[in-house]
Amino acid sequence: MISGPSGVGKGTITKELFERISNIFLSVSVTTRIPRSGEIQGDNYFFVAVHEFERMVGDGELLEWARVYRNYYGTPRKFVLENLARKRDIILEIDIQGALQVKKNMPQGIFIFIAPPNTAELAKRIQLRGKDSEESMQTRLSAVKQELEHMQFYDYVVVNEDLELAVEKVKAIIIAERCRYSNILMEGSQ
Ligand code: 5GP
Repeated sequence: MISGPSGVGKGTITKELFERISNIFLSVSVTTRIPRSGEIQGDNYFFVAVHEFERMVGDGELLEWARVYRNYYGTPRKFVLENLARKRDIILEIDIQGALQVKKNMPQGIFIFIAPPNTAELAKRIQLRGKDSEESMQTRLSAVKQELEHMQFYDYVVVNEDLELAVEKVKAIIIAERCRYSNILMEGSQ
């Protein structure tokens, strides 16, 4: 599960991963958002009307769903379960609310949080907050504090300061997870 705040570069990292690592499959989400130019139905997303999305929610077809800004996004349950049954690694590139829902149902998943640059530095400052009283810092800290609250539910945190490094870190995490004793019998592992 690759997750993190909007605009942090999850999509770019995921795209790069597919170039560098074999045997991973992307879960294509359903959304009520209007396609952007160049986006392809069934490739970037399954673009659906709100009533169709609501039907899918009602019929339990989504593993998780969330409202992000003014649109709905969700992960089709069938694709994920079928691929998991075939012991395949699936990447879910979803927002934080969605990842937390999946975590409740699938604690065996690997949850990677992509954090914006400076988060680690800001995190340290939060711990030393008493010494840091600038107002602008407080605003930034409160935003980052929210992120950190979510971060604690993840297995890994990768700071996207440098795209190349971030991609290599996520790749290393996936490879290391495939090497876990409990996973070595997985088809196509490593
Ligand atoms: P965008 O509209 O820019 O493609 O995506 C907006 C946000 O929705 C991003 O943070 C993206 O990760 C998130 N998102 C995309 N698909 C899903 C999904 O299936 N479930 C959830 N919860 N979030 C999603």
